[in-house]
Amino acid sequence: MSRVYNFSAGPAVLPEEVLKEAADEMLDYRGSGMSVMEMSHRSKTYDNIIKEAEKDLRELMGIPDNYRVLFLQGGASQQFAMIPMNLMKNRVADYIITGQWAKKAFTEASLYGKANAVASSEDKTFSYIPDCSDLPISEDADYVYICENNTIYGTKFKALPDTKGKPLVADVSSCFLSEPVDVSRYGLIYGGVQKNIGPAGVVIVIIREDLITEDVLPGTPTMLRYKTHADAGSLYNTPPAYGIYICGKVFKWISRMGGLSAMKALNEKKAAILYDFLDRSELFKGTVEKSSRSLMNVPFVTGNEELDASFVREAAEAGLVSLKGHRSVGGMRASIYNAMPLAGVEKLVDFMEEFERKHK
Ligand SMILES: *Cc1c(COP(=O)(O)O)cnc(C)c1O
Repeated sequence: MSRVYNFSAGPAVLPEEVLKEAADEMLDYRGSGMSVMEMSHRSKTYDNIIKEAEKDLRELMGIPDNYRVLFLQGGASQQFAMIPMNLMKNRVADYIITGQWAKKAFTEASLYGKANAVASSEDKTFSYIPDCSDLPISEDADYVYICENNTIYGTKFKALPDTKGKPLVADVSSCFLSEPVDVSRYGLIYGGVQKNIGPAGVVIVIIREDLITEDVLPGTPTMLRYKTHADAGSLYNTPPAYGIYICGKVFKWISRMGGLSAMKALNEKKAAILYDFLDRSELFKGTVEKSSRSLMNVPFVTGNEELDASFVREAAEAGLVSLKGHRSVGGMRASIYNAMPLAGVEKLVDFMEEFERKHK
């Protein structure tokens, strides 16, 4: 068996410990005689798995009692519609456009009401986070929407926007559990888990209780109402059962690692190794304004497309895979999520130094 260092933006690297545990339990989950994949979601055994996953997530993030945790399907992209369908009571919402994912959410919301783009960083290819300390928030906005970490461009909000009292809705797909978070500052936090938590197929929504109502847009399907899933404890229909089980193992792994503060310290250490190198390199350069740099996704270029392509190819041969940048940005992108070991980042930087010596 030989494992690579996987810098994919998602689906992405998972902790090896978790994969091994899952392998050990594959044929017989704790004496049940079956795999979690084969188990009724109505069984007592599965009920313990999903309840424990929620309890562990609540502990990790310090989720207040007036927030509900929902394990849903449809990916982050389905939330682009589910959010306006459930929250757009006045049919008005304000969006901060910091990349393609925020733009897609904005475009989707426009199907349901008046979505306003109150700030954008599109003028500079989304290479920074705009100042959001005094935005023209709409008087009747039902919520203010951000994509907190921009997976494609490698930027992250370092301060949350002043929403002037409106609920903040945040897509945290690519920074979920990467650092401590004050949940009480948000109305709704959500993310697809395949970036920083678990296997594709699960999206976690953390929503303040007063935002879960029957008063949704006419025609909202039963399956797309938060209330349906909140009332049923995420077991209205068959949930993505195996994915939730793996997420639960990752929550426990993060606790063993010391929780979200320890995760943040480790993520800062890993990111600093890469950014410090980019800042002193004469060949590679980062594409993002320093003050907006993400700890999770680090895009960089050489300025020469052919050289970029040889870098990606040679890195893969050296066991450093999925470093190709998103098609809209080009160049390279290293996603260094929670589960990427420090040694992986060190090996990447060693490889970059070597490549630079050869091509300078
Ligand atoms: C990957 C990603 C999405 C889309 O996720 P899907 O689960 O594929 O729909 C949305 N937002 C962000 C920030 C992402 O990184």
